[in-house]
Amino acid sequence: MSLGCPKNLVDSEVMMGLLTRAGAELSPRAEDADVIVVNTCSFIESAQQESVNTILEMVEHKTSGRAKKIVVAGCLVERFRDEIRRRIPEVDAVVGTGELQNILVAAGVANSATRKNDSPFVVLNSRAEGDAREAEGRFSREQWAGAIADLPNYLYDEETPRVLATAKHTAYLKIAEGCDHPCSFCIIPQLRGKFRSRRFESVIAEAERLARSCVREITLIGQDTTCYGEDLGLKDGLARLLEKLAGIEDLRWIRFLYAYPNKITGKLIETIAAHEKLCSYMDVPLQHASASVLKRMKRGGGADVFLRSIEKMRRAIPDLTLRTSFIVGFPGETEKEFEELCDFVREAQFDWMGTFSYSDQEGAGAYRLEKKISVSEIERRRKHLMAIQRQISRKRKKALVGREFELLLEGMSEETDLLMEGRTPMHAPEIDGKLFVNDFPAELTPQPGEFYRCEITEAHDYDLVARIV
Ligand code: SF4
Repeated sequence: MSLGCPKNLVDSEVMMGLLTRAGAELSPRAEDADVIVVNTCSFIESAQQESVNTILEMVEHKTSGRAKKIVVAGCLVERFRDEIRRRIPEVDAVVGTGELQNILVAAGVANSATRKNDSPFVVLNSRAEGDAREAEGRFSREQWAGAIADLPNYLYDEETPRVLATAKHTAYLKIAEGCDHPCSFCIIPQLRGKFRSRRFESVIAEAERLARSCVREITLIGQDTTCYGEDLGLKDGLARLLEKLAGIEDLRWIRFLYAYPNKITGKLIETIAAHEKLCSYMDVPLQHASASVLKRMKRGGGADVFLRSIEKMRRAIPDLTLRTSFIVGFPGETEKEFEELCDFVREAQFDWMGTFSYSDQEGAGAYRLEKKISVSEIERRRKHLMAIQRQISRKRKKALVGREFELLLEGMSEETDLLMEGRTPMHAPEIDGKLFVNDFPAELTPQPGEFYRCEITEAHDYDLVARIV
């Protein structure tokens, strides 16, 4: 079971690759498994709760079913290592985000001697910014009972086996791991370690291998992809990487997620605009728009700066699809600051937007801040912001009716057997609204994983309907 974000999914794929190479057989059905591995998320409280519920559900398969072992992996282990084993004694082993190679011993498919040969996972790159933050205690996990002192410091490479869990035509590619930013609501740096990039050649080699195995769409991920290469001494690392990837013949769509606002350079924008294979798509989690809240979040920026940067991106990249996410209810967020955010959302006109409710995380800077907002007020603000965005989204989606786009057909819809689903360059895998396909020429048998031209025929709040032309 893999929970959480695409970065965690890639870790699951690496663990599946290691297990398969060691001779284990994989099963997607927990009831058929001898060993159940739950790769957990610990981003916010609701994700922690979902992880715990899933572990408890899997424990049932051990107490009354076939499973002999339960292994818990991922971010929850970094956060609650001892507590998991103490509170859920049925858990046989835990594997942190920096010890993926230990899955072999944990699952019982290799003996402990195997661990000695796994040094290639460890990387030693770092950025001056990360070193300085480390000295300030940004990565300290001392308050977390049971957390091991060593920060996660591994990164897979092109030699690492991976079993893709996505459809065969699309894959995530992790280009970096960890994060050096000081955002005061976030414990990901403590869970994932300091920022480190994969070698440039390693990313290209993996992309080429994926392209040879019929992958046509690649989504680059990392906690912050826009810092890519800084620890390797590369200038404009992400732009250079994208340029090189665009040269891989069999790849058709390439995009990257999670850009840090002040790391979007002119060169990056130019590069996206210059290559057809690079989707005109930017995911820039802004987190807030009020300068005072952003300051307390230790991020900087504000509505004016962001609007200028959005305008620059839209001017340079025709038809840019812009995605962002916000946190509402940050400690001390006044009604006025929240209104600033609402005004900004009205003005920025995002194509896709997500809103998270602030949740307190022990170990995050904001945990110590006063003036916490009540859960009910946070929920009111979240709903209000999403209602504003719903109207914007409806208007923007309506404007697409009658226009033609390239379509990657995914297959039959999960919601109904009468429709197919696909994505355009405006749709990143899994997160964005749906695109249903309800018509195609009589002489055509549409195939999942193939590209077609489509015309948008209907628009809803977030979803679109199209026909293949
Ligand atoms: S950029 Fe900020 S929010 Fe994102 S992972 Fe890093 S510290 Fe967390």
